[in-house]
Amino acid sequence: MIDNSFVGYAFSSRGRMGSLNQIDVIDSKASVSEPTTEIKYLNQKVERLMMITEALWIILKETNNFTDEILKQKINEVDMKDGKLDGKVTPEPPGECSNCGKVLQKNKKYCIYCGDEVIIDDIFYR
Ligand SMILES: [Zn+2]
Repeated sequence: MIDNSFVGYAFSSRGRMGSLNQIDVIDSKASVSEPTTEIKYLNQKVERLMMITEALWIILKETNNFTDEILKQKINEVDMKDGKLDGKVTPEPPGECSNCGKVLQKNKKYCIYCGDEVIIDDIFYR
């Protein structure tokens, strides 16, 4: 965890060749403690996803007799999709166009070379 004084130094040192004074630290602490609208929006989205996940977790336990241990094991299996147990699934490169064979661009619905539609079968593609 980075404390606010370090963040204050990091921000104030950019443009001033490493100079640091108390005002810079105070100013940057204020901006760190006030989340932007986008961060607040993302926090709300994460909270909503947590509630949905919790509801699905409860349904799985109540209707299928899954235990917490079985569900945690399944989370680890998903985490290992990219070969690393690190709390995230690193996105895979988009691969090649099935029509022209050129490398596809990430987050594009169509191949930028031939215009073929990109169809992704994995509904959890990142
Ligand atoms: Zn193509």
